[in-house]
Amino acid sequence: ELFYRQLPKVELHAHLNGSVSVRTIDRLIGRKPHLNIQHSMTAIGKGQRRTLDECFQVFKVIHQLVDTEEDILMVSADHVIREFAADSVKYLELRSTPREEKNTGLTKKGYIETVIRAIQLCKDEGLDIDVRFLVAIDRRNGTQVAMETVALAEQFLLSSDGLVVGLDLSGDPTVGNGKALLPALERAKNCGLKMSLHLSEVQSQLEETDLLLNLPPNRIGHGTFLHPEVGGSQNLVDKVLKNSIPLELCLTSNVKGQTVPSYSQHHFKYWYQLGHPSVICTDDKGVFSTDLSQEYQLAASTFGLSHAAMWKLSQQAIDCIFAPETVKQQLRQKWTDLQPQLF
Ligand code: IMP
Repeated sequence: ELFYRQLPKVELHAHLNGSVSVRTIDRLIGRKPHLNIQHSMTAIGKGQRRTLDECFQVFKVIHQLVDTEEDILMVSADHVIREFAADSVKYLELRSTPREEKNTGLTKKGYIETVIRAIQLCKDEGLDIDVRFLVAIDRRNGTQVAMETVALAEQFLLSSDGLVVGLDLSGDPTVGNGKALLPALERAKNCGLKMSLHLSEVQSQLEETDLLLNLPPNRIGHGTFLHPEVGGSQNLVDKVLKNSIPLELCLTSNVKGQTVPSYSQHHFKYWYQLGHPSVICTDDKGVFSTDLSQEYQLAASTFGLSHAAMWKLSQQAIDCIFAPETVKQQLRQKWTDLQPQLF
């Protein structure tokens, strides 16, 4: 629907390698035919579901295709950022796990520098989208790597002209433990990195979530099993409410990854009814074959929300971004300017 395509939007939860579209995968496969990778291995189509475990296998395949600075630059600058911009996303926080690849000489530092270069290229070109970067910690890699990642993020926080704004904690929620990562996250907090943590993406994470909520994080990814109706607890909900921690909610991702049984049972409803800051996001628009307009439209049709209500949601997302107040003000102005064209 045109309204959702034209609606100015804020995307706060997008993993770089999960956001690689079919068109881009084609390009990558063309460059690396020897890997013998088919599309069915990198994207989950309409109506299809996968277990969460299978979803994480998909990322491993994409990582094989994206393993040089050249790949990262092409994927980010020529494709992912441009696609979000074409979908009327005006502010984007991309997140990605810096990877080292022995075969190609890719280093973690080079990885981050390349994403920053891609963002800068799009900026210089005058694309109508403000892009920032969150350095991601993959929870499976444990304490030491988490510490090193925070140290890297800290360097870039000071040297990237405001493009690196924070940290993400993600990765397979059934692997690793949050307690071991706490010292790294505390350090991140102390050096001024904003933090978005994947919390309670699966049901078994109650204790970990309780612990990490004490930081507290600046935003929560998913938070699927926080509330008591799905086995969470009022105590967890109260912590989220007390600190007013915004949630990043990804409908298609959760339904296709089967952590949520159906769209109508998505926890968006619970938090929206509470009036809690909730931001609709894509998570992995490539892997889950979606985009942000579709996600807005889906939320509206599933929960019976009007265009005006969806406008308000997209506008309120501005309050949740990690970039400074001046950027928020610019975005609010942009929304005000665009409003007459949509209503
Ligand atoms: P990358 O960090 O740019 O390589 O994007 C892919 C990575 O994002 C995966 O390997 C995971 O670590 C993380 N990721 C993507 N989607 C999810 C999710 O739904 N839950 C947890 N982690 C995720």
